[in-house]
Amino acid sequence: MLDVIVIGAGPAGVLAALRAADLGARTAIITRHEFGGMAANDGPVPVRTLAQAARLIREAHQFGRYGIAVSEPSLDYSRLLARVREVVNDVRAHSALRGQIDSLGVTVYEQAGAARFADPHTIETESGLRMQAEKIIICTGGVSRRLSVPGSELTATHSDAWGLTSVPPSMLVIGGGSTGAQVASIFNAFGSRVQLFQAGPRILPTEDDDVSVAVAAAFRESGIVVRENFGDIESFEKTPSGVRMIFSKDGARDSAEAALAVVAVGWVSNTSELSLLTAGVETDHRGFVRVDAYLRTSAPHIFAAGDITGRLMLVPQAIQAGFVAATNAVRGLTMRLEDQAPPIGSFTHPEYAQVGLTETKARETHDVEVAVVRFDSTTRTIIDGRTTGFCKLITDRATNKILGCHVVGERAVEITQLAAIAIAAGMQVDHLAQIPLSFPTYAGILGRVAASAARQLNLKVTWQAHQAEMDLCQENSLFRTRLRQ
Ligand SMILES: Cc1cc2nc3c(=O)[nH]c(=O)nc-3n(C[C@H](O)[C@H](O)[C@H](O)COP(=O)(O)OP(=O)(O)OC[C@H]3O[C@@H](n4cnc5c(N)ncnc54)[C@H](O)[C@@H]3O)c2cc1C
Repeated sequence: MLDVIVIGAGPAGVLAALRAADLGARTAIITRHEFGGMAANDGPVPVRTLAQAARLIREAHQFGRYGIAVSEPSLDYSRLLARVREVVNDVRAHSALRGQIDSLGVTVYEQAGAARFADPHTIETESGLRMQAEKIIICTGGVSRRLSVPGSELTATHSDAWGLTSVPPSMLVIGGGSTGAQVASIFNAFGSRVQLFQAGPRILPTEDDDVSVAVAAAFRESGIVVRENFGDIESFEKTPSGVRMIFSKDGARDSAEAALAVVAVGWVSNTSELSLLTAGVETDHRGFVRVDAYLRTSAPHIFAAGDITGRLMLVPQAIQAGFVAATNAVRGLTMRLEDQAPPIGSFTHPEYAQVGLTETKARETHDVEVAVVRFDSTTRTIIDGRTTGFCKLITDRATNKILGCHVVGERAVEITQLAAIAIAAGMQVDHLAQIPLSFPTYAGILGRVAASAARQLNLKVTWQAHQAEMDLCQENSLFRTRLRQ
């Protein structure tokens, strides 16, 4: 009998296996397909590669402004997909984690088919493996939620992009969360006529209100039809050139057609094949595996980590959870999952990212000061012709500490990393304003907005405040008035 079996080799599973083996446990990891899970094979890595192609097309459209003459960019989608496969293989081949897993003596079973519990300590796989362990860690992630309306089999998910042979001339994207927004933005850059449908009142509903408004406006300006509050989907039907979605709102029926309909309406757990009941593992009302702060399930010898638990579904969080689950599985309940303010962002055009509280959430519990610097007032963004966007900082008036940072625009995701560090360090906004960030950079906007916030709070700031003034800093109040116009 092994000490630990990990099911699933995404970021959570790989870290769990590594940690368990590092603590001296005899460990095996079993996965249905390839090592790396969704992150390497079907999520961030391939999607980011498509986003990079979209970025290059946008860059090419800028060439003329800088006196460079080239012909219109045209996309060969099958060559792009070959590049995606190359990147995926390269990332997998260079994964330091794979080397560490092997050197620690973890037995890796790839392409094993679906694993399931034969009894609380025994795992069987479709490929005929059967093994037992004292402790088991479930890290099987999730899959796209499908709609349950007539004709939903005519729709696709983001994963089906890998199977397309060419860019569809038109596309309906259903779901305006982060995945839907990325699909819409990327295929719009590739030349599809995209309509983005959001059931709720605004796309990107978990972002700060100003971010949703700004991204929706930028999407519309770039040609995406954004339909918020569009109603309820009744059905999909086949048309000679693709698919038609029929929906209704307030009793009125409407329809939209395109060559392809991509559904991105959330994520469900990958539990259906695991026979969890056999092992006594309970799920919550959404179907995700229920865990406590130690990532222990309702069966005391079974732990779970990553997307399967329905918590924040991101790679860094999956990695952290895999580490915590394995530590507790091997050493006993010694490590709790810490609550942190993680940076979250998306590689759309424009990019957007957040860390900490939104303005609405912050106002529920704090007396806040909000400062904003627009991208059209910073030197680097003007140099690069990337003047759409803003950086918004939310500060607690009582402590002067930063509660949240929200960025729309070029390199938003990178800018937010710095804010995440400042928040994690418990920095006061005037202290952030004193750090001499490089000029002219995208990240420099954070120093600028911190200086604005400090001035609004009547805190002492020295040189950054002067740079902010020199740098044409727009008044926050003016900007906010404009945003709401
Ligand atoms: C389009 C898209 C873009 C994303 N972009 C980002 C991003 O930019 N940044 C970011 O941080 N996160 C991003 N994510 C989220 C990120 O990919 C996930 O949060 C992360 O992969 C979760 O890791 P995990 O280990 O929990 O699960 P997964 O990576 O899903 O791995 C689960 C593994 O379990 C295996 N498995 C499933 N069922 C079984 C079974 N019964 N038996 C055996 N094996 C099984 C699967 O084959 C897989 O290998 C994105 C996701 C998507 C869909």
